[in-house]
Amino acid sequence: MQFLPVHIDTANKDVWVFGGGSAAEAKLRTLVKSKANIRVFADHQTSEIHRWAEKGRVVLEDASANFEAFPRPVLIYTAQPDEDLNLEMAKWARDNGILINAADQKNACDFHSPAIVDRSPVIVSIGSGGTSPGLARALKNKIEQFLPDQTGRIASSFGDIRARLSALLPSADSKQKIWAQFFGNHDLEEILSGAPSQLEAQVLEALNQDEQQIGSVSLVGAGPGDFELLTFKAARLLEQADVVIYDRLVGERVLDLARREAKFIYVGKTPYKASISQADINEIIIEEARQGHKVVRLKGGDPSIFGRADEEINALRNAEIPYEIVPGITAAAASAASAGISLTTREHNRSVTFMTGHGAKGYAEHDWKVFAEPGARAAVYMGVGAARFIQGRLLIHGANKSKPVTIVENASLETEKIVHSNLENLPQDLEKYGINGPAILLLGYASDFEISEEKLREKAVS
Ligand code: SAH
Repeated sequence: MQFLPVHIDTANKDVWVFGGGSAAEAKLRTLVKSKANIRVFADHQTSEIHRWAEKGRVVLEDASANFEAFPRPVLIYTAQPDEDLNLEMAKWARDNGILINAADQKNACDFHSPAIVDRSPVIVSIGSGGTSPGLARALKNKIEQFLPDQTGRIASSFGDIRARLSALLPSADSKQKIWAQFFGNHDLEEILSGAPSQLEAQVLEALNQDEQQIGSVSLVGAGPGDFELLTFKAARLLEQADVVIYDRLVGERVLDLARREAKFIYVGKTPYKASISQADINEIIIEEARQGHKVVRLKGGDPSIFGRADEEINALRNAEIPYEIVPGITAAAASAASAGISLTTREHNRSVTFMTGHGAKGYAEHDWKVFAEPGARAAVYMGVGAARFIQGRLLIHGANKSKPVTIVENASLETEKIVHSNLENLPQDLEKYGINGPAILLLGYASDFEISEEKLREKAVS
């Protein structure tokens, strides 16, 4: 993030604008809505700028006025046609520790003017880092349509309620919890279009609920990686969470849904590396819940598939802590979707097998005879490191060397890779295509049905 968004209090502070043309007018149109003391240095001004001067909203100075004689401003806008003059101004501003904005001149710009949706005191500002003001404006128009006019009034009412709640709730954390609960349980559109007078009763209701609240744990599936594959329920629970305990494969954007003040605990396990034990993870979850917190235990994919959810559930049951499981899209489903494959087919496989390449004690054993059968299919999790082992076991049990294997790495993410391989070439192909991220091996599945195992067999027979 090169441009940090901040909302600056300019009330009774000086802001200067150099230039009196249309570019200066555009900057001033927002500035005059603030409570800043505005000084415009220009020899000619547009009629709008004149009007603002007549209303006393801006003070006009000559372009040649000795600006150094005035009290230092907090911000400077320069919108003059002469770029060298803007650069000179930028140098002076920077030498004096003042932030400057030059219209359409990157090298003289410390900050940008965002597109804004003004529902004061609620201001939504949209910046594009200077890449596309047009896109920022288009986004602004979308938000304009969504935010009712009375949003500002609603916000002011919340301000009053907050002030009254302060006395009731001394800790900042408990206040945040109430608000997260309130916004989690109410429809935002209803709040924004509702009567401000009813808000206080609703907030007090959330407060009462909170007092009765004991800690709870939600085992939540974060899906395979693509933010859009997260469930609405997972998003809501994250927004309300006091504590988020998360794994290695959970994406940043998903974590961003939680309140910044929530406690984030990383308990990811890196394959082949010493990391936090499952027993320690169970203990952390229980300890946080016992403190009355709403705990979200966030796991990649679906929590109940190779996610050791069983161990966490047992620990929670023994500790008599209420829990719920929120399913997520598992990696095999995402991989099949990416490869354009159906996991079941009416003709060939009437059941689906999700198997792991690794068990508690190294490579996982399976009923290899079943999976070596022509047409047998399985989605293998954690199979990359075990590929040679799986290949060997299947071949020993009579599998066809040309049995298709579709490899899907980083399914649903931008870095996704799909490789069409077969049993014979599996280890070499993993190496050749540099598969070292999380991947699913779709055994017996080919996304190109022309090369499916059944077809190959038919050819061999005829
Ligand atoms: N609970 C998870 C699985 C955890 S086991 C789920 O339901 O998806 C970790 C394994 O999942 C990885 O070794 C890999 O085989 C698979 N995996 C997780 N995310 C993946 C992704 N985006 N693409 C492909 N495989 C993935």
